[in-house]
Amino acid sequence: MKRYGRSVAGGFLAALAVLGLPSSQAQAQAYPTRSITMIVPFAAGGPTDVISRIVTGHMAQTLGQTIIIENVVGAGGTTATTRASRAANDGYTLITGHMGTHAASVPLYPNLAYHPEKNFEPVALLAGTPILILARKDFPPKDLKEFVAYVKTNEAKVNAAHAGVGSVSNVSCELLNSILGIKPTGVPFNGTGPAMNALVGGQVDYMCDQIVNAVPQINGGTIKAYAIATPQRNPSLPNVPTTAEAGLPAFQAQAWNAIFAPKGTPPAVVARLNEAVVKALDDEGVRKRLLDLGSVIPAAAERTPAALGALVNKEIAKWTPVLKPVQN
Ligand code: ASP
Repeated sequence: MKRYGRSVAGGFLAALAVLGLPSSQAQAQAYPTRSITMIVPFAAGGPTDVISRIVTGHMAQTLGQTIIIENVVGAGGTTATTRASRAANDGYTLITGHMGTHAASVPLYPNLAYHPEKNFEPVALLAGTPILILARKDFPPKDLKEFVAYVKTNEAKVNAAHAGVGSVSNVSCELLNSILGIKPTGVPFNGTGPAMNALVGGQVDYMCDQIVNAVPQINGGTIKAYAIATPQRNPSLPNVPTTAEAGLPAFQAQAWNAIFAPKGTPPAVVARLNEAVVKALDDEGVRKRLLDLGSVIPAAAERTPAALGALVNKEIAKWTPVLKPVQN
C-alpha cells in the first residue's frame, strides 16, 4: 500500500516539475507522502506524551499517514529539542514542545544549542495545561495551608519530583518554592510520567504537575491534590480548590503544549499540519479526551502558527527575568 502511495506521489511530483512548479512547492503540495515522526521530549505516559498521542492520532487520519511518536528524554526536554532543531526541515520530523522547552529553557540554559524562535517554525498550540500542587497520599499536610507550614518547617527533609531542569514541573515548583521561600531537594525524572509513578509509590513527597497527568490519579485516590494554580476550578476536578481559595493566590501557573517544525519547513507544509491540528481540536472525540483530562482547548484565534509564535515570544519574555541560569 505504502509503496503504491509513494509512487503515485512521485508521479505527481514529476508532473508538477514538468508544469514548471519548483520542486519544494511541489513537495509541499504532495505532503505528506510517508510517515511523520513526532518527537516527544519526555517519557511515555507523561502529559506531553498523552496530549501528543491524542492529537496526532486524529491528525494521522486527516493527513493519511502514520505519525510515529518518538520519546527522546533528557535535560528537561532540551536534548530532544536540540535534535528536532537539527532535523531536516521537510515536515517529516516534528516536536511537541512546551512552556519549558520553548520558553523557560532559554534563560535557564545559557548554552542552549537551539533558540525556540530562531530554529523552529511554530505549527499549532495543542492544549493549555493548568498546574496542580500534588503530594504522595500519606504526606502529612491535609490542605494547602498545612502544606505551606509543613514544607517551610521541614524544608531540609522534603523533596519535590520534577522532569529535569527546565521542564514545566521544575519551573512551576521553582516558582512555588520561591513564593514560599524554600529550597527543597529536587528529584529529577525523565518525565512526569515516571515522576508520577514515584509519587504514587510514596518515594517522593510532592510535585507541581500538569493536570492531564494528575486527573486519573487524583480521582483514583492514589495521590493528594492541594490546589489548582488557575483562577477557576477545573471541571475535571470540581473538588480541588484554586490556590486563591486555598490561601496562596500568588501561585498561578498554567503550561501549554504545542507542535513545532524545524526552521525553514515550507509554509505550505506548516499550513497543512496546522489544518490537521485544528481539525483534531474540533473533533468531538478528541475534545472529550482532552477535556476529561482537564486540558484547556485553545480558541480558534489561538490556533494559528502566528498566535503560537507570539505566545513563545511572550513566554520567553515572561520567564527570562524570573529564572536564573543553571550551569551547563
Ligand atoms: N511535560 C513533561 C512530561 O511530559 C513534564 C514536564 O514538563 O514537567 O513528562
